[in-house]
Formats: sequence, C-alpha cells, structure tokens
Amino acid sequence: MAVQWYPGHMAKAKREVTEKLKQIDVVIEIVDARIPLSSRNPMIEELISHKPRLVLLNKSDLADPETTKAWQEAFSDEFTSTLTIDAQHGKGIKQIPQEVKKLASVLFAKWERKGINPRAVRTLILGIPNVGKSTVINKLAGKKIAIIGDKPGVTKKQQWIKVGKEMELLDTPGILWPKFEEEAVGYRLALTGAVKEDLLDFQDMAVFLLRFMTDTYPEVLKSRYDLSHIPEDMVELFDAIGRRRGCLVSGGEVDYDRTAEIVFRDFRQGLFGRVSLEHPGDKQI
Ligand code: GDP
Repeated sequence: MAVQWYPGHMAKAKREVTEKLKQIDVVIEIVDARIPLSSRNPMIEELISHKPRLVLLNKSDLADPETTKAWQEAFSDEFTSTLTIDAQHGKGIKQIPQEVKKLASVLFAKWERKGINPRAVRTLILGIPNVGKSTVINKLAGKKIAIIGDKPGVTKKQQWIKVGKEMELLDTPGILWPKFEEEAVGYRLALTGAVKEDLLDFQDMAVFLLRFMTDTYPEVLKSRYDLSHIPEDMVELFDAIGRRRGCLVSGGEVDYDRTAEIVFRDFRQGLFGRVSLEHPGDKQI
C-alpha cells in the first residue's frame, strides 16, 4: 500500500515486469475475489501477451462464494485457468503446481518435438499491491521470504524458489498498478484495502457502499444495522444507521461523517460477512 503510482513509477513497473516475463513460462496473476476486475492491471493482457496464465481469485474467504464461482467460469479460456484460493489460511495453494503443469502442457509438447530435456516450469506472480502476492509466495515456498525488491534503493538478486519437482517461482513478484480512471473502481479498491483510504472521502464511499448493499445484499445490510426496512432516501438511511450506532452530535442530530466512517470500517473489517463488490455481467463495471 505504500506504493504511490505516478507516471514514472508506472513506466518503471512496466519495464521491470516486461524484463521478468522474458524468463517466464506461465504467469500467475492474483486478483481480489471481491473485485476481480477492479483489482487487475489495465495493461495486463498486453503485458503478458499470449503466455499461459493462471488467475488466482484470492481472499475468497471474504467474497460471496456463488459470485466467485461465476467469476471462475467467466475468466477461464483456452490460455487461462482459474483457481479460488484463500492464501491467508492456505486454502487452494496445493492445487497451484498442478494447474501450472496443466497450463504448461503445450510447452512440454514443444520441448519433446525439439528433443529438449524437460525442465521445471518457470512462473512469476503478478498483481496490484495488497492482493496477497507475498502471502502466496510464502505459502508456496513453505517459509517466509523477505520481499524487499520494491523498496527504493534496494536491489535484490532474484532467486528461483522450487515448488515441488516441476515448478519454479521467482521470489520477487511483479507489482503493477490498478485501474484509476473510474470513481467506482477507486471506491472498490479502498473498501477492499487495495488503496489508501485517506485518498477518498468517507461519505462518498459510504454512499457508494450503502447503495450497492441496498441493491445487491439488502438482507445483509438490514441485519448488520438491525433495520426493519431500508429507507429509499440516503439521508434517512444514514439517520437510521447513525442512530443505531449512537453517532449523534449535540442536539440529537446524526453525525454523518462518523456514521460514514463506521460503515466504511465495518466493511473493511469484514463485518458485513462475505460480500463481492463485482459480479460478472454487472452493468456498472
Ligand atoms: P501483496 O502486497 O500483494 O504482497 O499482499 P500481502 O501478501 O502483503 O497481503 C496483503 C494483506 O492481505 C495482508 O494483510 C494479508 O494478510 C492479507 N491477505 C492475503 N491473502 C489473504 C486471504 O486469502 N484472505 C484474507 N482475509 N486476507 C488475506
């Protein structure tokens, strides 16, 4: 989250990833299962070109399981496989080498045709900040690897980590920037912890989230704030939540700033339960 993206940083990140990709057979792209589109780099397709790719839908413990299933189908194609994982708790990690091997079958066939001895499949983890790249690398390595390559002035020799017999992983991930153009994307990134919260206004984010919850998960919203119904008017909804949570200023008025911050933090802390902020086929994406 410390990474601030300016044009110079983006150009450097792109150069570094392009350089790393030269050595790579299969790309492992990590996205946040709650926002699989907003948590992707806008240039990812162009960057990885036609290399086989495994998309990991990470943080699935926080996402709506039905929606994650739908995303898994939406992402898979001829060159792309998808796995749903929860890196924090190590779920789905063991399947990664198997999927990588399947994706590399074209490569094995090519080696055989050319009479080249098969070697381990070389992989690289790619993703925007905070999607779980280090967590996945550490789980695959089976130990804690210090990822220091992205600190200014620190260069680290890259090492290959052996994962089983048939897979190797670069120990430094490729870090790319998220999409920024759309306001809604910024809200989704902030709500899921991918960008700094102080870049955005709490009231704007709370309005965005409450509208989304009203449309998509009304029962979750009602139960979270103990509401008998959801008022259509946003001010009334803020009033109802603010009163429930005791966010009042002198004179008994609701403190909208504090109410907004509470709603935002409740979501960030996972208190709404398993909620996906993007669904395949949504118009707003
Ligand atoms: P990186 O910046 O992409 O390397 O992300 P990190 O691996 O440092 O993870 C960012 C944050 O997300 C950390 O607080 C992790 O503990 C957390 N995290 C990573 N994977 C998961 C997951 O599957 N579920 C949950 N709930 N948290 C995760």
